[in-house]
Amino acid sequence: MPVRVRIAPSPTGFLHIGTARTALFNWLYARHEGGEFRLRIENTDTSREVAEAVDQIQESLRWLGLDWDGPHTFQLDRMDDCRRLAEQLLAEGKAYEDDGAIRFRMPDEGVTAWEDVVRGRIEYPNDKLHDIVLARSDGRPTYNFASPMEDVWDGITHVIRGDDHIPNTPAQINIVRAVGAEVPVYAHVPMIFGMDGKKLSKRHGAQAVEEFRDAGYLPETMLNFLALLGWAPDGETTIMGRDELVSRFDLTRVSSSPSPFDYQKRAWMKGGYIRELTSEEFAHRLVLWLGEHGYDWDAELVSRAAPLVQEKIARLAEFPGFAGFFFHEVEPDAADLDGGGPMLAAADDALAGLQPFEAAEIETALRATADRLELKPRQAFQPIRVAVTGSKISPGLFESIELLGREKTLSRLRAAVDAM
Ligand code: GLU
Repeated sequence: MPVRVRIAPSPTGFLHIGTARTALFNWLYARHEGGEFRLRIENTDTSREVAEAVDQIQESLRWLGLDWDGPHTFQLDRMDDCRRLAEQLLAEGKAYEDDGAIRFRMPDEGVTAWEDVVRGRIEYPNDKLHDIVLARSDGRPTYNFASPMEDVWDGITHVIRGDDHIPNTPAQINIVRAVGAEVPVYAHVPMIFGMDGKKLSKRHGAQAVEEFRDAGYLPETMLNFLALLGWAPDGETTIMGRDELVSRFDLTRVSSSPSPFDYQKRAWMKGGYIRELTSEEFAHRLVLWLGEHGYDWDAELVSRAAPLVQEKIARLAEFPGFAGFFFHEVEPDAADLDGGGPMLAAADDALAGLQPFEAAEIETALRATADRLELKPRQAFQPIRVAVTGSKISPGLFESIELLGREKTLSRLRAAVDAM
């Protein structure tokens, strides 16, 4: 039977990184096996309007590049089927009525066991299993009934989900058996924790995929990082593109121990991805990100500034702070210009008639000026950097001056002198 997996998020508002990681493992497994990855919205327990949450989930999955097969489905649409089936189980004596609810009759003896791909054999003594409710007295099916039945109806071959669902599994297996269907393979992947060993929460940092996107992380960084939460192809490789992840992913190598979410490590990986993009692609991502985040900056100028920052920033969101001086006026801190007056004035002279106004010539001219004033390069260039970019940290000074252009450079040098 061809592999078919699914992700079944509850529509709670946004795609949590834990759910995203589970989605990724499902997707990687499906793509690796040439199977299908389905998206099912598990809204049995939600009565409120979920359209927006569903959009959010899809938007985040799309951003990560986790494409699903076929239309997304809603658990709520299966409610009538569930109700009918509950009645049938009742008629067959596999379930019984209790205060108007329909309860499943669990086996009393023996064990319910399965070979979990991640955890190995898991076994529950049947006398410990509760007769769970299939349909409530108002007719509403429960999650523990609807979820395994949907897996059956959708032909799900492998249920890959968080290990918080292990306690639900024996009941779900018994229900699947009761309807005479084949029990899927289960793979329970470990929960994600903070570096302090506590369950991941707001306190640790961003939780929603959307937040990482807003912070300017690249989707491929995120994907690679999520893939390594509980899985590794070997002891060494850490940087992998989408195709490599698909070809190397191995569900049997997923670890059963909790996966620590190391926000610092991510900080390290993300820069690598930006540097690996071609300069055109990097510029393209920047333009898109800026547009999505309310920056009405000239795309042409963004594209020309991009190569100057590609080696220096780790997230797209750092661009406005780092290269904003190309797009708006600057307000240098007078203290940072301290003692730079003579150099600023001399730089003004040196650059006023310089031809051509290009980085190499600008550098030669400014170095000669510094020599003449008997200043070390650092001493000489810092006030210029501050005057022109508004900051002590900037892209390469000479390239920046070239791109900024003579007119703006000179006016900023003069404004700084005047401000002193
Ligand atoms: N809605 C469940 C969750 O988000 C999924 C349960 C399942 O995958 O079976 O954890």
